[in-house]
Amino acid sequence: MKYQSRFSRIFFPEKCDRCGRIIPLAHSFCPHCEENIRVISDSFCESCGYEKTDCFCESEFNPKLPHIAAVYMYCGDIRERIHAMKFRGRPSFASSFASDMAKRVRQVYPDVAFDGVCFTPMTKSAEKERGYNQSRLLAKSLAHKLGVPLNDCLVKIKQTDKQHSLTGQERKQNLKGSFSVRTPAEAQGKVLLLCDDIKTTGATLNECTEALLSAGAKDVYCICIALADYHGGKE
Ligand SMILES: [Zn+2]
Ligand SMILES: [Zn+2]
Repeated sequence: MKYQSRFSRIFFPEKCDRCGRIIPLAHSFCPHCEENIRVISDSFCESCGYEKTDCFCESEFNPKLPHIAAVYMYCGDIRERIHAMKFRGRPSFASSFASDMAKRVRQVYPDVAFDGVCFTPMTKSAEKERGYNQSRLLAKSLAHKLGVPLNDCLVKIKQTDKQHSLTGQERKQNLKGSFSVRTPAEAQGKVLLLCDDIKTTGATLNECTEALLSAGAKDVYCICIALADYHGGKE
């Protein structure tokens, strides 16, 4: 660190992106967050998103995605904040998560020119019940930060059972054929970034990716806030 920036940080200490606490010199998060947040390292598997040492592409539950990256493991403070965003009426957290995702996208997909940012849709009735779709909020903010248009082409056409009560195999079955594209022209020939909050088995991202590719998308890259520590059983 240069003398001047060290000097200015003594008088104007940097604040932690996550919680607003002061960050010690030469750290990126405050000590509290460093202990409670697991950031996924650069050495990760592009088909499942986990760090290479935890890759479980060989598991029968894991659909291999063309490209997947995530920022965090779903635990500690991140789990709390995602819950607050989804279930406790704190959609404003989406913007800060979208900043993390934008940073990650620039870092892991530096040479990809995206034509649009898509998101995993909810059925109309589910969205009405919650009041918002957190994936849409994330995608909107992410699109803005990356300077790429929001692409609202995916639709959920089938009401499905709640995924979190099902096992890996059941999740896949439950979601089969439940997503589609409004009009194929919205996906045709495009390179799309598909965003979601959490990847558990990857079944939702996989179904959405397939819907986009079969509508003629050129390529689909997935980005999530966090990966659940999922090993074939229930969450
Ligand atoms: Zn912090
Ligand atoms: Zn893998």
